[in-house]
Amino acid sequence: MKQNLWINGIIVETKSYRPLSNPFTGEKIAEVAEASKEDVKRAIESAAEAARVMAEMDAHKRADILRKVADYIQEEREECARLISEESSKPLKAARAEVDRTVMTYTFASEEARRIHGETIPMDAAPGGEGRVAYTVREPLGVIAAITPFNFPMNLVAHKVGPAIAAGNTIVLKPASQTPLSAYKIASYFHKAGLPAGALNVVTGSGKSVGDVLIDDERVKKVTFTGSPEVGKYIRENAGLKRVTLELGSNSALIVDEGTDLSKVMPRIVMGAFSNQGQVCISIQRIYVHERIADEFVSLLVEESGQLRVGDPLDEETDVAAMISAGDVNRAKSWIHDAVENGAELVFGGESEHQVLKPTVLLNVRSTDKVSCEELFAPVVHINTFNDFDEAIDRVNESKFGLQAGVYTKDLQKAFKAARRLHVGGVMINDIPTFRVDHMPYGGVKQSGTGREGIKYAIEEMTELKLVAFKLD
Ligand code: NAP
Repeated sequence: MKQNLWINGIIVETKSYRPLSNPFTGEKIAEVAEASKEDVKRAIESAAEAARVMAEMDAHKRADILRKVADYIQEEREECARLISEESSKPLKAARAEVDRTVMTYTFASEEARRIHGETIPMDAAPGGEGRVAYTVREPLGVIAAITPFNFPMNLVAHKVGPAIAAGNTIVLKPASQTPLSAYKIASYFHKAGLPAGALNVVTGSGKSVGDVLIDDERVKKVTFTGSPEVGKYIRENAGLKRVTLELGSNSALIVDEGTDLSKVMPRIVMGAFSNQGQVCISIQRIYVHERIADEFVSLLVEESGQLRVGDPLDEETDVAAMISAGDVNRAKSWIHDAVENGAELVFGGESEHQVLKPTVLLNVRSTDKVSCEELFAPVVHINTFNDFDEAIDRVNESKFGLQAGVYTKDLQKAFKAARRLHVGGVMINDIPTFRVDHMPYGGVKQSGTGREGIKYAIEEMTELKLVAFKLD
């Protein structure tokens, strides 16, 4: 299959194509277009030309297009899930869950499209403001460049395209090179739903070469990026005066206090640590367990991890499949090796076969080991103990990242203290940090990024607030 570019409502061929392989089987699944600089410029030009049409489109029409896209995805749920699974090696049951969330994300975008509004301002509250009526409106920014990662190739595209269209913007989307097919599929649904030509363009190619054109071009008013902190920093430093939203990585932590019903919470903890091979920005990487329940916790975690089915992502029973690249398997294994050299205990997993790294559990890791202080992005979790709840909070906060944190405790005072003191974008009390539904505000502090997604919140960042003031005689 040859996958061409999508520019100005038509399929566009280019000079160069790159083979795309299934990470689990290694088989070639497509030849994907590598956009030239001119192709990317053409996509920006199309988006700029469509900006006025989109800005003038009525809210109910934008809402209808988004709802239709949600319906089309729902109708082709299985096909979409298989596409995600083939290009990213996401186990089929997780891929189906991603498709269901994508339907929700576009549904929320459709609903929010109808709710974008400003407010009236009581101008006479200030001396000199008497005799005036003023209100605010939210206007679209124009062209938005969206750059997305491989790990949720359909839903994280939806978190950018959904709010952008809801607010009347146009988009040039650059999906991850390993997972472009689901993004092109979404473009075909928007086309079928009646989105004007040029309002959504998809260009593939190397992140740096496509990214640099997008970041550089004056017609692009905002860059919304989800991906690694290194690339996020590069974008921030080079985007000039453009608005920038950065949804970056983390080494998310979970605190488990004494009194927690371990057999009840363990299936959820295992899911949070290992689903999608740990390649989730809020995957559980660090666990701090109260020392009184630590032995029971470790044995239950190991037992539950042993139940996971490892293998072919297209097998209905598979829980953990291949990582996105061989390089990532090697990186994770070398970090595990270093931690063990430094005194950590490997109690489960650690081995790999082809590109599949088995779920891995480490104990007593030093906070300076890479498996702890860097983003691991692999099916590896480690457990350390605490005896003082404040100390556990301090350990979580030691991180240079701060996306979400989870706390299991029966003590209301401790729960409130954790909510107040944890320096992260979201605190999940009595749940894992991996919890997310698609309308909640979502984003990080510190090196986990700036700005928030979650449709309503993304729309705020994808619109300009304009004040209109009338002076009355
Ligand atoms: P990545 O390597 O940073 O790539 C993300 C996107 O950026 C890809 O489309 C990539 O293109 C592109 N890119 C690479 N270099 C670029 C450059 N110089 N300029 C502009 N764009 C560039 O991240 P990934 O490996 O796909 O995804 C994993 C990361 O995403 C993790 O750190 C994870 O935590 C983070 N993430 C965060 C969230 C969140 O909401 N906070 C959600 C999911 C994932 P190529 O594919 O062509 O290189």
